[in-house]
Amino acid sequence: MSSYMALPKGMKEETFAKAIQEFRTILGEAKVRTDQASLQPYMRNTIAENGEPHKPSAVISPTTPKEIQGVVGIANKYKTPLWTSYGMENEGYGSAVPATSGQIILDLKNMKKIIEVDQELGYCLVEPGVTYDELQQYLKKNKINLWLDAPAPATGVSVVGNILERGGGYTPYSEDFLFSCGMEVILADGKLLRTGMGGIPNSTSWQVFKWGFGPYVDGLFSQGNNGIVTKMGTWLMGPPPPGGYMPFCIRFPRLEMIAEIIKPLMFLRQAQIVPNATALVNAGWEAATVVANSGKDKGRFIRNGGGPIPTSKLISTYGVGAWNLYGAVYGSPEQVALNWKYVFGTFKAAFGDKIQIITEKEAKGDPVFEYRKQLMMGGVTPQSPLDRWRAGGGSMKFTPVAAATATECYQQAKTASDIVNKHGFDYLSEFSFFWYDARHVVDLRFDRSQPEEMKRAYKCYDELLTVFAKRGWAVNRTNTAFMDKVADGYGPAMRRLQRTIKTALDPNNILAPGKSGINLA
Ligand SMILES: Cc1cc2nc3c(=O)[nH]c(=O)nc-3n(C[C@H](O)[C@H](O)[C@H](O)COP(=O)(O)OP(=O)(O)OC[C@H]3O[C@@H](n4cnc5c(N)ncnc54)[C@H](O)[C@@H]3O)c2cc1C
Repeated sequence: MSSYMALPKGMKEETFAKAIQEFRTILGEAKVRTDQASLQPYMRNTIAENGEPHKPSAVISPTTPKEIQGVVGIANKYKTPLWTSYGMENEGYGSAVPATSGQIILDLKNMKKIIEVDQELGYCLVEPGVTYDELQQYLKKNKINLWLDAPAPATGVSVVGNILERGGGYTPYSEDFLFSCGMEVILADGKLLRTGMGGIPNSTSWQVFKWGFGPYVDGLFSQGNNGIVTKMGTWLMGPPPPGGYMPFCIRFPRLEMIAEIIKPLMFLRQAQIVPNATALVNAGWEAATVVANSGKDKGRFIRNGGGPIPTSKLISTYGVGAWNLYGAVYGSPEQVALNWKYVFGTFKAAFGDKIQIITEKEAKGDPVFEYRKQLMMGGVTPQSPLDRWRAGGGSMKFTPVAAATATECYQQAKTASDIVNKHGFDYLSEFSFFWYDARHVVDLRFDRSQPEEMKRAYKCYDELLTVFAKRGWAVNRTNTAFMDKVADGYGPAMRRLQRTIKTALDPNNILAPGKSGINLA
């Protein structure tokens, strides 16, 4: 029996032991662990697959780019794969577990330097172990008045990890990869690359101008396995003056209304009257937010058994809408007053008294409104509200991109809810409206302690992918169990190109094989 929890594919135990010895020579034993207790946290997962196909063989926790260069050199020598992660927060997308068994987790949690925050221009340069809450605390402590653009939840989430996954927040910046600027990357051959203006000696514009000269390469390191990012710049929004931020919520009583919401919403969004990533939250997701934020029913779950909960029941029990729209207006107080009139008038004209419009005045400190208010000004919120939906800790995010049109959002919502209900699950969703697209996030919640439910959840997710693909819809992110299937959907030409790039940059296939379906094995 092997003394390791797993071994890289096709590798003999003696060879792996030699590699581990060399890693320890440069990093010390504390930073190179192979024992079960050290590896266990990295196996914590929420997807509908048990640990076997994703068992790590070791965890290495470097603290400097130089140490990573040393690790990469040894990994090339022995061909040991390295799965980069910040920690265990990538919930719903596979957490920290590698795509294939036997990979070494390269945990960057100890790389915690906030290298620079430029208050005048509004940007920062950070290492990959810096979390949103740490960056927010740093800004507060140093009295720097800049907003983050944080995902929900963001406590314990790596700023760099979330941007590399092309995640999004809820402020007017929202499309986080778009607002990143300049990276430092260790390539698979151990060389250090600075992207954009970063290669210019003494550059003063690394964090202010993204494009550099020649082909733009930063995308190669997002959702990919072509390098290990050791520093990243990101822009931070200058907040509006006092009185220049007004969040609002509109509750819509019927599911079918989604078809009528999008047109006025996208008009306001594209005219920049409502400039942020507005969230259209369904009754289930909103009910979970109510429970999580009200402090009621502590320790209990919304759904304990039986079939999916009907929307009408959620509305009457939790006082939520069938759809709940959260947006905000920003600017000078005068602009905000004028723009709010416009927003109010637009929705009133379209829906009359059928809807409930809530501003801070009506919300009177309601914690659910406060939660969304925080998100739309870049506030860092803790744990997922959906954790209170169902016991057993299962979660897989199904995230199809929709064109932000009434027809498409309606059809996607209907198709997804029909499929998840058919498999006995609840349709818990949020559409975030970005520039032209609506990012439709369906959180499939299930009980991981029940093998039958695990199987059903796997089948359900698989069917969602298949049926959506037939309609020309695809997800923009997925978990480690489905990366191959999703990558196949994007066609053979893209598959070929990605393989060509991987072969050129990482011929030994040492960086996160299997990430986004890219693997030379
Ligand atoms: C209810 C709920 C709501 C959510 N809402 C949102 C939301 O609004 N917006 C959103 O974006 N997300 C959302 N998420 C997802 C969540 O925030 C993710 O966990 C987060 O985006 C990933 O951050 P992380 O620190 O776990 O990343 P990591 O685990 O560090 O990184 C994720 C992946 O990025 C790659 N990577 C990370 N660091 C590096 C590096 N230095 N070099 C190379 N590759 C690297 C690796 O492949 C890694 O597996 C939600 C999750 C839940 C449960």
